[in-house]
Amino acid sequence: MNSPSSRRQFIKKSGLALTAFALPIPFQTTLNGTDMNTTKLMDTIVIGGSYSGLAAAMALGRALKQVIVIDSGKPCNAQTSFSHNFLTQDGKKPSEIAALGRQQVLQYPTVKLVNGLAIQGKKTKKGFEITLETGETFEALQLIFATGIKDNMPNIEGFADCWGISAIHCPYCHGYEVRHTKTGILGNGEFGFEWAKMIANWTSDLTLYTNGKSTLTDEQQAKLKAHHIGIVETEILKLNHVKGHMEQIVFTDGTQAPLTALYAPRPFVQHCPIPESLGCELTEDGYIKVNAAQETSVVGVYASGDNTTRMRTVANAVATGTAAGMSASKKLILEQF
Ligand SMILES: Cc1cc2nc3c(=O)[nH]c(=O)nc-3n(C[C@H](O)[C@H](O)[C@H](O)COP(=O)(O)OP(=O)(O)OC[C@H]3O[C@@H](n4cnc5c(N)ncnc54)[C@H](O)[C@@H]3O)c2cc1C
Repeated sequence: MNSPSSRRQFIKKSGLALTAFALPIPFQTTLNGTDMNTTKLMDTIVIGGSYSGLAAAMALGRALKQVIVIDSGKPCNAQTSFSHNFLTQDGKKPSEIAALGRQQVLQYPTVKLVNGLAIQGKKTKKGFEITLETGETFEALQLIFATGIKDNMPNIEGFADCWGISAIHCPYCHGYEVRHTKTGILGNGEFGFEWAKMIANWTSDLTLYTNGKSTLTDEQQAKLKAHHIGIVETEILKLNHVKGHMEQIVFTDGTQAPLTALYAPRPFVQHCPIPESLGCELTEDGYIKVNAAQETSVVGVYASGDNTTRMRTVANAVATGTAAGMSASKKLILEQF
């Protein structure tokens, strides 16, 4: 990490090639002058250094706690050109928001950032040990997982290229930018119907693409028809696009239709399997179960951000990260008094 080439790699991986040069504070890689490889008991290890993990680290740093943030540089919104609906940051590039977050967090001298992938976690006598892909290990009294989720892409050519640009997961993040345009929803049955009701707020030129036989009830179909929302059952082959901006939706029968935006919330998996391996309970929907203090079902382990909730916004990731950092540090402060 200290070598110029590995630092360059990190900058490239994080998509920060431009903004990183503006950072006044270099990434710090030593702990109080000790080499990172030396195991030193930290207060908290934060796994995931995007919006939620950085917010947690800021709260911990402000409480004078010794913190390591481990981040593999793959936030879920990496492909999105502009992030919206976060007060003071509306319309900024996601990487700019993260870079500013890193800059501010690294001003707290007890917080260190490590570029790497955590692959294993285990309970120790004193707390927890986290092992990175490189074999490095870190030990701390507490863990905070701010590791996000991974969206599964459908088997539609061009979809992944459009993800976050014109294939949209949330109207509050990107609906305003594609308002009143030719818009589709990829969905079927109750799910597709509910989304159609919602998205009709942003455009009157709306089609529900069920990508196979419709499972809508007669009543739902009639309601959509009454609102002039089309239903297309033909299977989708691909999305024609220019740099992620879709232009046509193409079907397996050779037909096609113009399209500007496609709402397509995706099924997901946890980005990081370590919380489950440590025994953290998941909800029925696949989120890490947390209480109001962001504590998981395992004592000493916290979680925040997208991995805990369907309220998927940068603002919420920051809010829950802050809560996790405050709860975790408060626990240590009171225990150590
Ligand atoms: C396409 C898209 C567009 C979006 N647009 C908007 C928008 O406009 N406005 C808005 O408010 N929200 C938007 N969101 C939602 C927003 O991006 C998320 O709510 C937010 O990124 C969640 O932050 P997080 O820190 O919880 O997770 P993420 O930002 O996903 O970050 C998780 C971090 O953890 C790291 N990580 C995971 N596992 C490990 C591991 N084992 N070891 C080390 N590091 C690990 C990852 O590399 C990543 O850096 C969008 C989401 C998507 C998918």
